[in-house]
Amino acid sequence: MTMSEQSPPQPSSALPSPLGLARQVEQLMKLPQHLCKQRGQCCRVATFKGSLSYEDILALAANPEAEGHESARDFASVFLPYESQAQVSEIAGEFVDKVRTIAQSKGQDPDQITFFKCKYVLADGRCGVHEDRPVGCRMYPFPHKNTIYHPGCGFEQQGQENWAKIDAILSQLGLSI
Ligand code: SF4
Repeated sequence: MTMSEQSPPQPSSALPSPLGLARQVEQLMKLPQHLCKQRGQCCRVATFKGSLSYEDILALAANPEAEGHESARDFASVFLPYESQAQVSEIAGEFVDKVRTIAQSKGQDPDQITFFKCKYVLADGRCGVHEDRPVGCRMYPFPHKNTIYHPGCGFEQQGQENWAKIDAILSQLGLSI
């Protein structure tokens, strides 16, 4: 058959399969690591699931049947609680205000939130156990509507863009997370 006998390529009208969409979500969940400015802010001042107290996290970590048990256990293995929110406000006031405001908007008591510092973050912001850091640290930050970024975080813009795409795909599938 000569070139002139070939049919011109037809535009594909097929919609991506659910598996194809799931793969797209998987890719969008991974933010490029080069966006990290390596300031160590997210290791110096962190919360777990936005607003949990230390007691709640320890209870989750101690209960293998509980949803979120493994991530709570990983978190509790590296993070130590600050004594008070006032102490955290002195070093990350804007972040504390954001976390408190979001908790309040969800009907939670912002005074019950515990803030944490990782025991392995070095003075220059690098991770002292980089090769052995927990899974949550390797995955952080997750693009999600509830993710609270530190001011100036290099992941924020890409994280929000990726979340918008993930959310649109989930809507197509009739799902939400
Ligand atoms: S283990 Fe390393 S990456 Fe994880 S919070 Fe601590 S310093 Fe940061």
